[in-house]
Amino acid sequence: MSTQPSRMPTLFIGHGSPMNALEDNAFTRGWQEAARRIPRPRSILCVSAHWESRGTYAAATLTPETIHDFYGFPQALFDVRYPAAGDPALAQRISNVVRSTQVHTTTQYGLDHGAWSVLCLMYPQADIPVLQLSLDTSQPGAYHYRLGQELGALRDEGVLILGSGNIVHNLRLFRFNDPAAADWAARADAAIRSRIESGDHPALADWRSLGADVALGIPTPEHYLPLLYALGAQRKGDKIHIFNDRVTSAISMTSVQVG
Ligand code: ZN
Repeated sequence: MSTQPSRMPTLFIGHGSPMNALEDNAFTRGWQEAARRIPRPRSILCVSAHWESRGTYAAATLTPETIHDFYGFPQALFDVRYPAAGDPALAQRISNVVRSTQVHTTTQYGLDHGAWSVLCLMYPQADIPVLQLSLDTSQPGAYHYRLGQELGALRDEGVLILGSGNIVHNLRLFRFNDPAAADWAARADAAIRSRIESGDHPALADWRSLGADVALGIPTPEHYLPLLYALGAQRKGDKIHIFNDRVTSAISMTSVQVG
């Protein structure tokens, strides 16, 4: 009998509105199904759109606080707590596994809504340790993709690499009174999706060369970059499973399971 943990898939989750944390809808059900489909992780490494930094940091917090990094939402959302433990040993392991840059550790960060709004539905018991890795958004796509490649080693240690963002995310062009997918947003999502399915990772790491629709869909990189971590950790033979692939106005919820 083997005590080796199974190789974990990786996930990219389109998180959308923080209100999803309180809802039961097609997207949240898709997240719950993903959690049921994959092996139970030993720990979760979340790369969220909502922790941007200069330099790359792993949170080595023992008891990460739930960060309510938004405003203008109902009190019920501010009342949500996600009391998962941190994993300082994994933060240390990450800084050893990654060779292409120095990963600093910090105890000054908990869980932002990119992490907890998804995890409170996927793992409502909050009984799996979680830590976040920051996004140095001053770095090019290749930097993030390379980090994903290096972090991929953790898949064999029972760690779930979970990118949380949105492939198409343009709040400036988002029309709250018209949820129909904008044509350009649907095209941008399809362009990214087809390259995920064909494994054209160089094009995805260099998304700025993918034309006008993608440029509109990714006006700033922070919601897109978490995808490159999930894909960087892809191995030969891993299957790709796309779910929640729906575009609302100027945001796509398209989510990806790798492996
Ligand atoms: Zn977000």
